[in-house]
Amino acid sequence: MNARYHININGIVQGVGFRPFVYRLAQEEGVSGWVNNGAQGVQIEVEGPQTNLNRFLARIAQEKPTLAQIDTVQHEVIPCVDSSGFRIQASSAGEKAQTLISPDMAVCTDCLKDMRDPQNRRFQYPFTNCTNCGPRFTIIQGLPYDRPSTTMGQFEMCAACRREYEDPNDRRFHAQPIACPACGPHIWLEIKGQRIGERQAALFEAAQLIRNGNILALRGLGGFHLAVDPFNEKAIACLRRRKHRLEKPFALMIKDLQAAEAFVDLDAHSKTLLCDSRRPIVLMPRRAESKLAQGLAPGQSRLGLMLPYTPLHYLLMDQGFDALVMTSGNLSDEPIAASNEEARERLAALADGLLLHNRDIHMRCDDSVFLSTERGPLPIRRARGYVPQPICLSEPVPLPLFACGGQYKAAHALARGNQVFLSQHLGDLEHLETLDFFQESKKHLQQTLEIEPEVLICDMHPDYLSSKWARSQPMPRIEVQHHHAHLAALHAEHQLKDPILCLTLDGSGYGPDRTIWGGELLYGNPLEYKRLAWLEPVPMPGAAQAIYHPARMACAYLRALLGPDWLTAVRFTSMNEMQLQTLDQMMQSGLNSPLTSSCGRLFDAVAALIGLHESVTFEGQAAMALEALASGMENQGRYPEQEGLGPLRWHPLIEAVLEKRANGVSGRKISADFHADLAQLWCSACIQVRQQTQCNQVGLSGGVFQNSLFSRLLIRELLQNHFEIYWHQKVPPNDGGLALGQIAVASSLLRNGRVPCVSQYPVA
Ligand code: ZN
Ligand code: ZN
Ligand code: FE
Repeated sequence: MNARYHININGIVQGVGFRPFVYRLAQEEGVSGWVNNGAQGVQIEVEGPQTNLNRFLARIAQEKPTLAQIDTVQHEVIPCVDSSGFRIQASSAGEKAQTLISPDMAVCTDCLKDMRDPQNRRFQYPFTNCTNCGPRFTIIQGLPYDRPSTTMGQFEMCAACRREYEDPNDRRFHAQPIACPACGPHIWLEIKGQRIGERQAALFEAAQLIRNGNILALRGLGGFHLAVDPFNEKAIACLRRRKHRLEKPFALMIKDLQAAEAFVDLDAHSKTLLCDSRRPIVLMPRRAESKLAQGLAPGQSRLGLMLPYTPLHYLLMDQGFDALVMTSGNLSDEPIAASNEEARERLAALADGLLLHNRDIHMRCDDSVFLSTERGPLPIRRARGYVPQPICLSEPVPLPLFACGGQYKAAHALARGNQVFLSQHLGDLEHLETLDFFQESKKHLQQTLEIEPEVLICDMHPDYLSSKWARSQPMPRIEVQHHHAHLAALHAEHQLKDPILCLTLDGSGYGPDRTIWGGELLYGNPLEYKRLAWLEPVPMPGAAQAIYHPARMACAYLRALLGPDWLTAVRFTSMNEMQLQTLDQMMQSGLNSPLTSSCGRLFDAVAALIGLHESVTFEGQAAMALEALASGMENQGRYPEQEGLGPLRWHPLIEAVLEKRANGVSGRKISADFHADLAQLWCSACIQVRQQTQCNQVGLSGGVFQNSLFSRLLIRELLQNHFEIYWHQKVPPNDGGLALGQIAVASSLLRNGRVPCVSQYPVA
């Protein structure tokens, strides 16, 4: 007895070998019909014996291709038409596609095998890929996802490739970036504008360059990397000088897991994540005895490692390297370079050689970064391998939305239905180049997803470039408070319903009272929030300048603690009398000294007080050094219980630091105690708030939660007090996750009719 089904499948089902997979399944089950890419995902009609049809349906979900992600499978019974055979129909262009593009994925083991087999026609070919691996997001220019609308469109397939491309039983059936040495892109090496070598010779020469202590720029999947020998102190110093990156740590690409063991402590979570086909950089505890250059990650207790992910990386590592520094090909803070022309212009002064190729990168995309913690991986930077995979909301947005995100570690987001598409990490929006990148990636995401946003959402900060941009657009706009967005991001990520308590601890965010927030205990949901407790504010002498001068923050806390005597009470800084007097007057008069409740700044101050960093070259550096100093030391916190909420007294913490310092206690112990005391301060605030709100769920969001020692101690305290805890797993706790929260806030305001006038944001 035959039947016929119409099946509709939604999710990431384009460009991942879904149709050929369906074709093979139909052959195996002996059913007839067709498959195509339609408006609402993959459409299938199949006819055959009922049992075969049901098995066919079940196997779709069970055996789906590696890169596919199925969100829904719907089927209905339709009349039989006595069909025979099974056909793959062409994509129906012109229809509004709702299917999703896969992120870029690391080369698969089958392709690696091809590349390492001297008999294979792709032996050592750096652009080997198949339907289970290779570039997607970075090469797609438009829809439908077919070869002509990718940067592979310019390469005419050879007869052998075409045969594979057209054979439904081949692993490369409809693999749009299919290529081979005869017809595809190739590599070459340029030194000072001269082409030095092609193909194999280029690779050999490039490796030689690195071995001789030079800097190589190589074109990868989502942009350029700068590669350097990590054991060569001079080469690293040179890279820092040229890149204007004085102290920020560099990441390493390592040959394999075994090589990684020499540099870091690998746990099971980290191993899994390192080997994942998304191949992020994983930050792990560094081994003290490794022979890596000192300049690689000064003052850091962790090291960022990743495995090779393109065929070219494997070929380069195969030249005899266990590890290579692989850092983004850019000047500090600029977007990563992606085109050959850009490399010749912008990277010529940074690199001694350029390893180029002619498969163009349409959309640049940096490496993703995760921090390995005992609770599992924490996203720090979400980009390659994850974008443009959506994050699902529990309720759909009422209309298409665009959220600008923040200013630092920027990422924007588009939303449609119950899907939020967070952009790749864009960098700090302080330069025109990054703002261009912001607009470029917005346009690309809108095009490939076919979303036309109707409302813009931005941070309420008066000066963020992204907010200024939003205000310049002739469109309805909603402005969201920074820490409310942090809370909402976490709330949305976990698809929560009820209001939660949320510790939003970070560097800075603009508060509705015009002070700078950053150490808050909020209670709320995406619709509204209340600020129940916060660190008692201190002035930030010099405003943003104070971020780069932790010593100034130390002065601010001392002054607030000790009163007028602070100038003579404690000696900790190399600043002279006059400089200190000037700071004192600034704080006295409030001149360029906004008040802040920032928790990040409190870490900075303590670092300065114990002599770690008077000034820093990147935000959070002092706090990271403070954490590194205490690594492995977990103390019990001591913080006096306090009555009532509102401004929280940080004073006992600073007093304890000063007292220990005066008694000659080691910096390591002072730091460890401070971490524990601070955890207790926040936990005791949560306990108080619980009595008031009856809410037992605590979220942890904001950049401070990248500090794993503090997170661990706080979570321990909270668990001992029977709280239910939420932390970020899909988006970063830093401002990289803000856009998701902004979408969640705007969506719930719109759904509840709370925004009649869109430039007005209601403050709870
Ligand atoms: Zn493959
Ligand atoms: Zn070919
Ligand atoms: Fe923030």
